[in-house]
Amino acid sequence: MPVTERLYYSDSHLIEFDARVVNLSDRVSGWVAVVLDRTAFYPTGGGQPGDTGTLNGARVVECIDDGDNGVLHVVQGAAPARDAVVHGRVDWSRRLDHTQQHTGQHILSQAFVTLYNAPTRSFRVLEASCEIDVDLSNPTTDIIERAVELANNVIWEDRAITIRNVTSEEAAELPLRKDPARGGELRLIEIEGFDLTPCGGTHAYRTGEVGMIAARSWERAKGLTRIEFVAGTRALADYRRANKSAHEVAMLLSTGRDDAPQVATQMLEEHKELNRRIRALEEVAAEGEAEKLLASATDGVVLHVFSDRDADALKKLAHALVAKPQTIALLASRDKDTARLVFARSADASGDMSVLMREACTMLDGRGGGRPDMAQGGGKNLAKLDAALTHALTLLSHAS
Ligand SMILES: [Zn+2]
Repeated sequence: MPVTERLYYSDSHLIEFDARVVNLSDRVSGWVAVVLDRTAFYPTGGGQPGDTGTLNGARVVECIDDGDNGVLHVVQGAAPARDAVVHGRVDWSRRLDHTQQHTGQHILSQAFVTLYNAPTRSFRVLEASCEIDVDLSNPTTDIIERAVELANNVIWEDRAITIRNVTSEEAAELPLRKDPARGGELRLIEIEGFDLTPCGGTHAYRTGEVGMIAARSWERAKGLTRIEFVAGTRALADYRRANKSAHEVAMLLSTGRDDAPQVATQMLEEHKELNRRIRALEEVAAEGEAEKLLASATDGVVLHVFSDRDADALKKLAHALVAKPQTIALLASRDKDTARLVFARSADASGDMSVLMREACTMLDGRGGGRPDMAQGGGKNLAKLDAALTHALTLLSHAS
């Protein structure tokens, strides 16, 4: 005789029961694990998380399957005494949620077998969704949605779900969806005319109780197709989240929910076009600015420090400057908390800009480099910016 009679095996909807305490043990958490002679609490296993609830009012925070030693009810607070008779109550909303996910998984997994002969290799109930890894070689959203469609039809046909206990010899003669993980007597979950599979989890009385199934996303993982799905109350919660975020995006775009993708696409196109125009205008502006700077150049050297200009804008200006023969541009910017430098020379001017840049950047506690005619860099030591430029200018005059 096993230590604990598992009441959830015969009735997934039983949530209140009386039982006797047969064993107590201390957990490292400081809490006490209670073993009962019978329990309706489902312990974590088979991809399904364990139940929570109360024993005589004390919180059961975790339920662990200890095999032949029974089910451990980890109790937070006052634990009952050995041999005491306790009243257990399972949290129904959590149980219903897990039941919907698990039965939903059986239905969805069989849908993939029915349509594509693609078996499910593993299953997990996560915090807000579930995952199955399906041996499906060429997944597309359409292919997956067809299986989701079939699964929902089976749900809405409200088929009966029954539990059959059979010997392994009897099981060998039956068309099981997956091979039993163990020998001996087997517990089979049968969905009328659709699926028969060995499982120790809690399942709905009828498929209708699952409500609905929706696939959230899929990806290829380790040669399998990992599908994230939600069933029952999770599908409704997921719809509410998706609807809320879709409405929020639509409000930002001043449009209706279902028009938001089209409006966003248009805005992104406009954004790209504006960027193209800004880049073109920056070049025109750089040419005008270059002319002014060249007028005040000494010996063909333009040295200037700007505030709040990024490296791209500095480079545009440098290009415009060195388009003029015999010109050297030593440009810098205080861009937020960073010093940015761009050194450039026209093809017929002398001096190695990459050497100048490395020297200047060392003074700025930064890094830089490039080609002899064009180099860029920067650093965080803004206080040394003027000194770094002066140093570069000195190196330039020594070189020539
Ligand atoms: Zn199962």
